[in-house]
Amino acid sequence: MSATANVDPDEIRKFEELAARWWDPESEFKPLHAINPLRFGYINDRSPVAGKKVIDVGCGGGLLSEAMAVAGADVTGIDMGETPLEVAREHAALTGVEVRYEQITAEQTAEREAGLYDIVTCLEMLEHVPDPGAVVAACSKLLKPGGTAYFSTINRTAKGYLFAVIGAEYVLNLLPKGTHEYAKFIRPSELEQFARDSGLNLQAITGLHYNPLTQVYSLGPGVDVNYIMHCTRSLPE
Ligand code: SAH
Repeated sequence: MSATANVDPDEIRKFEELAARWWDPESEFKPLHAINPLRFGYINDRSPVAGKKVIDVGCGGGLLSEAMAVAGADVTGIDMGETPLEVAREHAALTGVEVRYEQITAEQTAEREAGLYDIVTCLEMLEHVPDPGAVVAACSKLLKPGGTAYFSTINRTAKGYLFAVIGAEYVLNLLPKGTHEYAKFIRPSELEQFARDSGLNLQAITGLHYNPLTQVYSLGPGVDVNYIMHCTRSLPE
């Protein structure tokens, strides 16, 4: 598969159509707003981002990119959606946060900037691409030896389907119908295999849980719906 082929235009269009409301915490992006402090905290606790060179792959409107930049990271955000990037740039200009945003794939960036980054983040993106393994490989290639990567996605389990598709899209209306496609969900074992095949070692994995009664998100054991995986790139022998 060529570098540019690993993009699903329907997926890009889906996010472009919603992008204007990206920073509205009551919009379709409400769940991302709600989980952003949790996932940023998880990343920054394990790998303090201040002063680090970070690339946020599939950055969308820039929720995580900005949080990392505010914490002192030197952040590049990449996405294949034009409107999400426009929104991200506008918002950064408004808040005065410095982030470089570019419309490019992880694979193309890795050709150009191999081994340049301390930290790669790729959250809620792998379940929207045709070949997630190729994105993981590109993320690994972007890292310096010893660098660290964070991936998050949704597990392909009955509970993943129930919570992420039926619950979030049909019962609670947290997300627009059609946001997620069950077949594209990724099991932790599969993600770990993609990572290992790309020279990345698993460091930790945590679940990301939603309690529909309290409407509170939390991190903790149990990876059968949403999860975040932390990997590091091996140092040369
Ligand atoms: N990572 C962000 C946004 C998640 S939404 C966050 O968690 O806050 C998924 C994003 O992935 C969308 O902005 C979409 O445009 C982007 N995307 C989908 N396929 C992509 C690809 N092949 N390359 C780069 N970005 C992609």
